[in-house]
Amino acid sequence: MSDIRVRIAPSPTGLLHIGTARTALFNYLFARHYKGKFIVRIEDTDKERSTDAFTKDILDGLEWLGLNWDEGPTVGGEFGPYFQQEREHLYEQYVDQLLESKRAYRCYCTPDELSLEREQQQARGEAPKYSGKCRNLTEGEREQFELEGRESVIRFAIDNQSVEFDDLIKGHVSIDTTLMSDFVIVRSDGTPLFIFSNAVDDYLMKITHVLRGDDHLNNVPKQIMLNDALGFTSPNFGHFPLIFNTDRSKMSKRKDPVSITNDFKQKGYLPEAIINFVALLGWNPGTEQEIFSIEELINEFTVERVGKSPSIFDIEKLQWMNGAYIRELPIAELAKRVEPFISDDSIKEAIEKDVNYFHQALTLVKDRMRLLSEVEDQIKMFYFKPKFDKVLLTANKSTAENAKKSLEVASKVLTELKDFTTAATETALRAAAKENGLKDGEILWTVRVALSGSAQSPGTFELLEVLGKKESLERINIALNLC
Ligand code: GLU
Ligand code: ZN
Repeated sequence: MSDIRVRIAPSPTGLLHIGTARTALFNYLFARHYKGKFIVRIEDTDKERSTDAFTKDILDGLEWLGLNWDEGPTVGGEFGPYFQQEREHLYEQYVDQLLESKRAYRCYCTPDELSLEREQQQARGEAPKYSGKCRNLTEGEREQFELEGRESVIRFAIDNQSVEFDDLIKGHVSIDTTLMSDFVIVRSDGTPLFIFSNAVDDYLMKITHVLRGDDHLNNVPKQIMLNDALGFTSPNFGHFPLIFNTDRSKMSKRKDPVSITNDFKQKGYLPEAIINFVALLGWNPGTEQEIFSIEELINEFTVERVGKSPSIFDIEKLQWMNGAYIRELPIAELAKRVEPFISDDSIKEAIEKDVNYFHQALTLVKDRMRLLSEVEDQIKMFYFKPKFDKVLLTANKSTAENAKKSLEVASKVLTELKDFTTAATETALRAAAKENGLKDGEILWTVRVALSGSAQSPGTFELLEVLGKKESLERINIALNLC
């Protein structure tokens, strides 16, 4: 067991997002690879926007993906609680420490005063920045503000300097802090800002590595300055490039598929496929291999192989991968996974009565499925007589006359056939085609359309075997009546 401890700190202000899922996966893989601990800590410091429903969506989503955490909500751990709202009492002493050492101060400026200050700076052509004017308030001024009933926030007093650190992915980073404002660490209602609570909690929870999206890169100097002022050792940092659409635009919650529950789970993606796909959003195995089990990912994952360039989210590739995973599932397992996607009551009832038939049908269609949600559409031909236009019987393959003849011939030979296996029907139909001067393609096509009602379906002989003699003949005769 190594001492490596990593965490994710999702804010329950939205649904579990593909970006957060990737951050979770990389942290999970890093922890498992180095035999460390993976921790989930809910960053619910923004009380107005955090909800229990979002927390549930995030935790359910992580669980569905199989990203089990060693410490966190529901499982607990020795560094709990793992909800920041329940840790507020722990932050107070560190705020006091900063106030006493004059590394933090109360700022009484009103929003109006702050925006006036910004406007004036802009008018002078300066970059807007909080002036720090409350840094040196006298005791008397402070009392006066309090008497007036002014609200105050607590700001961190930046030491003008540049902060340097070695990012595990970006390399050496140097950020000039002279352009930064003294930032707020405690809101006027007394709640901490995440930048502060995360610095404290990463320390208290003995986090060794902070791995997250590079939208947080600019927060690192703040975190390092806070850590230095509090006497904490800073963790290592690693920032992954963000995920973009194929057209290089940023993924948006409004128009792109980003919610793990709504856009992926409920649409019929397999968690294994999502994991495999998301792993390749930024991590590069260094080989051509594309399909990875979670065990392989754990073995092979290192931060050194996480690239610096943005990752591209290609839904086509994800669908292809999902199809590949569907094909590999044992049929009984696939049957279990597609169950929630079957809504037709008569199909559900029929499955209950004859699971074996359902498995046979599923075996025939699974190769053409890319999403679990396609199942009902794919298997309905096994449960309902097909509806189709008679032109499909001849479509590019046959004349109307030959189509009719094909069905008549097929009906006759199949009626006489005792053995209805794939091999037997194949021999019989091919022989009958030859005897009656029909092309194999004509008879196979028309029979297949009669059985499935579709131009795209499993093969004629497979369909005959699964549907069985009685049902097959009924369907062929229905088609004949159309001719
Ligand atoms: N709540 C932040 C996020 O989900 C995490 C910040 C952090 O990892 O320090 O982006
Ligand atoms: Zn102020």
